[in-house]
Amino acid sequence: MSKIYAGVDLGGTTAKLGLFKKDGTLITKWEIPTRKEEGGKYVCPDIAESIKKKTEETGLALSDLAGAGIGVPGPIRPDGYVEVIVNIGIRDWNPVKELSGLLGGIPVKGENDANIAALGEVWQGGGKGYEDVVAVTLGTGIGGGVILGGRIVPGSKGMGGEIGHMVMDWDWPEPEACNCGNRGCLEQIASATGVARIARRFMRESDRASSLRDISGVTAKDVFDAAKAGDTLAQEVADYCMMYLGRALAYVSQVVDPQVFLIGGGVSKAGQYLLDLLQKHYDPLIVLTKEKAKLKLATLGNDAGIYGAAKMIIDER
Ligand SMILES: [Zn+2]
Repeated sequence: MSKIYAGVDLGGTTAKLGLFKKDGTLITKWEIPTRKEEGGKYVCPDIAESIKKKTEETGLALSDLAGAGIGVPGPIRPDGYVEVIVNIGIRDWNPVKELSGLLGGIPVKGENDANIAALGEVWQGGGKGYEDVVAVTLGTGIGGGVILGGRIVPGSKGMGGEIGHMVMDWDWPEPEACNCGNRGCLEQIASATGVARIARRFMRESDRASSLRDISGVTAKDVFDAAKAGDTLAQEVADYCMMYLGRALAYVSQVVDPQVFLIGGGVSKAGQYLLDLLQKHYDPLIVLTKEKAKLKLATLGNDAGIYGAAKMIIDER
């Protein structure tokens, strides 16, 4: 049996896990709950036990397990040290050392979850065939990951690719603060919660008719659905939000010059409509080259993290 690799994507509610062959074949994937009790002390033991059990269930030998990668929802240092993971409540933790110890000393590598998702997409998803890619996840917040030369660019403090907190809106005083404490962050405008927030604002600031007014608790999906159906207010909201994201991508291009931007997360379900809006606002800002970066949709969905976590440790070997 050839060697196998485990990919773990740790989240606040569940940990997603997968076993992979070196060539990117997914052998099996599954999920376990993330137990937050007692400062998260069960998180690594649960993951290790689950990997051992599943390896055996799949008819593989634990000795075939050649390494594991883990993505965590927060900043992680190159040696695996985590200061704090807010949504699990873990502090002063080293999941890399702990997991390696629990799995018989196999090599383990840790990364931020947005970065492993980006790497997963480049390995086996929408970015396959490219090596300079910036992935942007439009969910509750905005995550990002930069891959250059096929490798994650984590930055000196693990902050690389965190485009969600680029302050984009300086034009007028933003009355609401972002989760990070700043005002006018990209995340406040172009995430799922951001699009819904801007829609509420547009409705409040005019009395124009819109199908969105009939919906209680308007979501980003409602906005894009209504925009596609011809609702002009929804179209203006979508255009406004994607203008800021398109500008942000253009700024990123000036720094890292990727071949492709991969757009993922719940909001990306708006599909080509969203890509067209982004391209419209991105292209005019790129003037030093005729060849603009391609804007594409991510394809692995929630599995991107386990793919990237496995790929990260495969690349180390
Ligand atoms: Zn922010």
